[in-house]
Amino acid sequence: MKHECNANHGSIQLAASARIQAIDRRAFLRLGGLAGIAGLCWTLTPAHLALAATTPVYCNPNRPTTPADALAALAAGNDLWATGQQQHPGEDSTRRSCVDQYGQTPFAAILSCSDSRVPPELIFDQGLGDLFVVRVAGNSDTLVGVQSLAYGVNHLGALALLVLGHQKCGAVKAAVESYPRPAPVFVSIIYPAVRKARIIVRQSGGNPNDPNQVLPVAINQHALLTAARLSSKQPFRNLVKQGALAIAAGVYSLDTQAVTMLTP
Ligand SMILES: [Zn+2]
Repeated sequence: MKHECNANHGSIQLAASARIQAIDRRAFLRLGGLAGIAGLCWTLTPAHLALAATTPVYCNPNRPTTPADALAALAAGNDLWATGQQQHPGEDSTRRSCVDQYGQTPFAAILSCSDSRVPPELIFDQGLGDLFVVRVAGNSDTLVGVQSLAYGVNHLGALALLVLGHQKCGAVKAAVESYPRPAPVFVSIIYPAVRKARIIVRQSGGNPNDPNQVLPVAINQHALLTAARLSSKQPFRNLVKQGALAIAAGVYSLDTQAVTMLTP
């Protein structure tokens, strides 16, 4: 059955409404979520608009307000972690009750590995409600993971999306050692990065058949390729184009506990 979107029952056709100009991006995005949940296409009732237009409560008083500031906050938190000066913000009863009462307003979304040595809230020294995290072995862009990240930036207003690889990643190691043979999806999904890493190692005079040489390059390439794929997809692409979202790739060192941002 074709679903019709019209303006009956006293509802408002959002796309044509000038009111959208008067509310912020977060409210706009929340409207989209409400429309989807209600099965209303982009047609919303005045009650929906009133709900969406309420000013969000930011439980983190230092919540970054721009994509660049969001990445800077992650870097600053990691500096504290790596130097043993972490402050454990946003863990107290005030933050706990705030996020309970007013909901979450994470400033960053992170796609990281399930590895138990790389918990994002700890290594970036952030608190409850600060990070919207998707973790999967090998920090790969699986369908459900990508949809989750889209929720984090679209509906919750995260300003930065970081793909975080890490040193000594077991999933990438399995991909390096299995390439190009058939393997479980969470391993074979990393093959494009292994392929590129082998080329880079060969071009730099190394041995592409030596896993020890290929692994660190593949870890970096996998984070970069994953970030690039996310950047090409909606809703991420439009948000980046609008200056409302920054997408980055980084790698965490188990040796130094520092995150290094990667460039293609
Ligand atoms: Zn890993």
